[in-house]
Amino acid sequence: MGIEKFARVFAGLGTLRRGSAGRRRRMRGAGDGACRVGGFGQGAAMRSTVRGLLAALHLAPALLGGAKDGRLDIYWIDSQGGGSTLIVTPAGESVLIDCGNPGGRDAARIHKVATTVAGLARVDHLVTTHLHVDHYGGAPELAAMIPIGVLHDNGVPAEDPDGNHDPTWPQRIKAYREMKVDSREVVQPGDRLALRPGKDTQPKLTVRFVAARRQFGLRTSGVANIAACQDPNPRPKDTSDNANSVVTLVEFGGFRFFDGGDVTWNVEAGLVCPVTQVGPVDVFQVNHHGMDASNNPMLLRSLAPRVAVFNNGPTKGCAPAVAAALRALPEPPAIYQVHRNKNAPDANTDAGRIANADPEGGRHLMLTVSPDAQRYTVAVPATGHRFTYLVRPHP
Ligand SMILES: [Zn+2]
Ligand SMILES: [Zn+2]
Repeated sequence: MGIEKFARVFAGLGTLRRGSAGRRRRMRGAGDGACRVGGFGQGAAMRSTVRGLLAALHLAPALLGGAKDGRLDIYWIDSQGGGSTLIVTPAGESVLIDCGNPGGRDAARIHKVATTVAGLARVDHLVTTHLHVDHYGGAPELAAMIPIGVLHDNGVPAEDPDGNHDPTWPQRIKAYREMKVDSREVVQPGDRLALRPGKDTQPKLTVRFVAARRQFGLRTSGVANIAACQDPNPRPKDTSDNANSVVTLVEFGGFRFFDGGDVTWNVEAGLVCPVTQVGPVDVFQVNHHGMDASNNPMLLRSLAPRVAVFNNGPTKGCAPAVAAALRALPEPPAIYQVHRNKNAPDANTDAGRIANADPEGGRHLMLTVSPDAQRYTVAVPATGHRFTYLVRPHP
């Protein structure tokens, strides 16, 4: 029996083990491709076939998502080039980072994934990274569809945070300012979310705000990085609200996920210099939808991600220069995209790793970290792609 066929048989056993019709219904569209495990990309996976077979048995039920299953789930919901990343903790608590655009479409997509895929009845924490409409615009609509607990943001300023003195700002932000949430908190750099503890036997989960409003919160000393501090390509100061983005780090045991919102070039350098704020991560949501005003190679080298996810749109983000910078890293990450980039086809990753080939979109990407935080699986329901990565060792 060939190795690939053997793997398919094991994956098939996993399918049978999944049991109930309800669970099968929730798996529809997730595909049942062989579940493989690897360190760096698919080449490494083929060298890890035995571990892959074990992982196939272990992880086949992992893509169900849902509450209190001991797994950490991350969904990149399609908001056509907006931000909308949903995290469900092992204890079943939910953290939504950004809320897509106004107009109904994005809030409906978030609501659908939250309720029918993740099985949530509420959003416990909503983090708005910054006040651009592709990040906060869908929030008032979502708040009318599902209860929202604590809203975390930079506060709502009296003036347009881009500094344009736009007289329409009070009207543009009115619905967000007035939407119903249980409480509101202004993020302070270094804060961590108060989350329900998981089981004592599980690895620890923390969600921390690394930066906000161009200030850094994790470290002020101790990891000096002077050698890497000469930015060969500094940019003019970014006065837009992008630079104020709340930067979030999710850690579950050794697993680390970085979501920087739309943080831009010079603030990205500040995450590395003069001290390293974050260091290597497993999964990187590519900053600013993959635009090249962001994604300073200094930060990319420091994060050294194994998986990079573009929350891009069909004609927004996933810039060729950013894709090239990721591919030029010493150990290039596996790249996933929410949309195929119509404008720059050569920048696209493998078709199987793209959630939406159709510009109309509406499909999501999903990542599940195993309860022991030793491995994680990225799934593309639209294509059936599923791939398991080992959590990297951290010093
Ligand atoms: Zn944005
Ligand atoms: Zn923005």
